[in-house]
Amino acid sequence: MQVPSHFEYERAADVEQVLALLARYGPEARVVAGGHSLLPMMKLRLAAPDALIDINDVSELSYIRVERDELLIGTLVRHAELLDSPVAAEHFPIFREAERVIADPLVRNRGTVGGSLCQADPSEDLSAAFAAVRASAVIRNAEGSRTVPLREFHVGPYETVVGDGELLTEFRVPIKPGGSSAYEKVGRRAGDWALAAAGAAIWLDGGNVADVGIGLTAVGAAHFVAAEAEEYLRGRPADDESFAQAGRIAAEHCRPTADQRGPVDYKRHLAGELTTRALRRAAERART
Ligand SMILES: Cc1cc2nc3c(=O)[nH]c(=O)nc-3n(C[C@H](O)[C@H](O)[C@H](O)COP(=O)(O)OP(=O)(O)OC[C@H]3O[C@@H](n4cnc5c(N)ncnc54)[C@H](O)[C@@H]3O)c2cc1C
Repeated sequence: MQVPSHFEYERAADVEQVLALLARYGPEARVVAGGHSLLPMMKLRLAAPDALIDINDVSELSYIRVERDELLIGTLVRHAELLDSPVAAEHFPIFREAERVIADPLVRNRGTVGGSLCQADPSEDLSAAFAAVRASAVIRNAEGSRTVPLREFHVGPYETVVGDGELLTEFRVPIKPGGSSAYEKVGRRAGDWALAAAGAAIWLDGGNVADVGIGLTAVGAAHFVAAEAEEYLRGRPADDESFAQAGRIAAEHCRPTADQRGPVDYKRHLAGELTTRALRRAAERART
């Protein structure tokens, strides 16, 4: 049956009202942003919230700007807005590259950055990109707000630390000198979910890697991160040999599963190769 079960519908005007409505309706209420993930799940009755709190009028959650040494991205920013944002591209080209290969214009025009991260699909692209650049998520509730590193945001497939009565409001990405980033994805066709994808952010100190972030999606990497490859690279020469070895380590430590998109060995191979390529391109950019 392609019809959702009965639910109440509320349209909030600001964050305070979202929080009040979440408190009024209790744990069975869900926020709806673009609706591209939640509504299909409701039609299939994989989700049956008692109430939907629509946040599309909450314009205070829609911005991309730099404040001091951070890029701030509001949760209601649409994929298309992040794709087209000059300020995001200037500091983190990884976002434009990831957004370019997410779905199609219909989904990108409506789907939001926050909705994507909250959906926590194990093949979601922005989770890997935000993990690579070491972003944090700001979560509001009735008591105040808390900031959670992206690397602690996902607690499992389709599960995050955003609890009942809480709203994800913002992403914060630290801007550090000497760095750049890149994203590499393989899907079965244009706009499809990833078979495997890797994002890399790298900061150089002369010819060496001062710091690095590597995000992986669709290949079962814990918290979307290739932690062992990051550890290997820190302090090493930023050259092809190091990046190739980091790719091998990333491939070895991820845990893909076989499905209609491909077998385990192929996905593992892709994870390694895409990691190496993303690192190489991020480092080239960081040098210029
Ligand atoms: C055809 C198609 C192709 C796609 N291809 C890709 C792809 O290639 N790569 C990729 O990464 N993604 C892909 N997607 C996923 C797409 O990016 C997401 O569906 C969409 O962007 C989710 O955002 P949304 O705003 O629509 O979320 P919604 O559907 O509104 O919400 C999703 C979940 O997040 C919760 N939520 C939303 N906002 C908040 C908030 N601020 N605080 C707390 N909880 C919140 C909702 O309650 C719900 O549980 C595809 C989707 C479709 C339909």
